[in-house]
Amino acid sequence: MPCPLCDDTRWRVVEREGRRQAVRCDCWREAVAARRLAEARIPRRYQHCTLESFVTYPNEKLQNALARARRFAEAFPVVDKGLFLIGPPGVGKSHLAVAVLRQVILTRGARGLFYDVRELLRLIRSTYDPSVRASESEVLRPVMDADLLVLDDIGSEKSSEWVGETLNLIVSTRYNDRRLTIFTSNYEEKEDADDPDSLLARVGFRMHSRLYEMCEFLEYDGADYRHRPPNAGPEDLLAMWKVQQRRRVGLPRKAATQVRAQLRKPDPRADVAWPGGRAGT
Ligand SMILES: [Zn+2]
Repeated sequence: MPCPLCDDTRWRVVEREGRRQAVRCDCWREAVAARRLAEARIPRRYQHCTLESFVTYPNEKLQNALARARRFAEAFPVVDKGLFLIGPPGVGKSHLAVAVLRQVILTRGARGLFYDVRELLRLIRSTYDPSVRASESEVLRPVMDADLLVLDDIGSEKSSEWVGETLNLIVSTRYNDRRLTIFTSNYEEKEDADDPDSLLARVGFRMHSRLYEMCEFLEYDGADYRHRPPNAGPEDLLAMWKVQQRRRVGLPRKAATQVRAQLRKPDPRADVAWPGGRAGT
């Protein structure tokens, strides 16, 4: 059905101060937003994620994270810092990140982009293959230029000097150009700086301090939404979270201990002098 306001010309004539003027029709803005949303690479399983569909329950830090995410989306692009969402798998970090991304694309016409960090690195690496037609810059330019970039699951990538340098380049370029980025990570801050499962050990000293300069950190725990029964309400989620908390406390940190034994001891100071390097791996 053609647009009733402009008959699909995408222009409308309006009267302003006694003069007739052509202006963009609302349907043009909507078409731009729809195209930008389609180009944002949001994975199918997150495409339904909105701030309204994020189910909360009595969990102060989770509710605070939602409130901060909402404020960010409403104020965009007049925002000083990006967001860094930290928490165990399944607590809705990617949902929140995508919800903000969607909202700023739809309401502000922002150029938004979503990447799982490992997928982005894989794509960049693939351009080094001569049989692949896309060049490195063709992959990197939209990542650098996006008004809002979501980098999902940072810290999960297998580290190497190349990985460290590539991520540092992306993050630093966006920071210097004052572009906003939302990160999610399963790797928490730990008091023990040597813990190989800490965010610091996973991303390296240089990246870690840069992330603090450019993001507001929102760390929270909660029920695993992936194991939520259909139609689970706030009370069910609260009960699930409590069970999980008891289990988490009771579990020996066997996996972490094994990883630690396999790694050399990370030395954050060594990372300062090693551009793009990763502590201890
Ligand atoms: Zn129209």
